Amino acid sequence: MEKKLCCPECFDDRGLRDDIFPTLNPSKGKCDFCEANDVPLVEPGRLAPWFELLVNVYEAHKDGKLLVEWMKDDWALFTHQTMDVAHAKELLGEILDNGEVVRQRFIPSPSYIPQAKAYEPS
Ligand SMILES: [Zn+2]
Repeated sequence: MEKKLCCPECFDDRGLRDDIFPTLNPSKGKCDFCEANDVPLVEPGRLAPWFELLVNVYEAHKDGKLLVEWMKDDWALFTHQTMDVAHAKELLGEILDNGEVVRQRFIPSPSYIPQAKAYEPS
């Protein structure tokens, strides 16, 4: 099966678009996930180090929310109109190479203090 590729528009995040994607030597074309045209494309797994930082601020809890729901709510990620929860789960599962973790429920880790743009250089 051919590897699906994702683009910054899937996440609609300026940090990813301006700071992360250009460093990953992206190809260019149509996104397999959000179907944007003429966008930079990378294999989702290349974004794993960045997303693992986000995942680390949550911990598994049966009454929690899905990781993609937290990422939509807390980080304004996956806000592209085609990236509903189902699509976002598929993409995050590809990024983390883990189809299980995206189905689990999480709560913010009590030791984590939210920072709106923690990944941006200060
Ligand atoms: Zn996309």
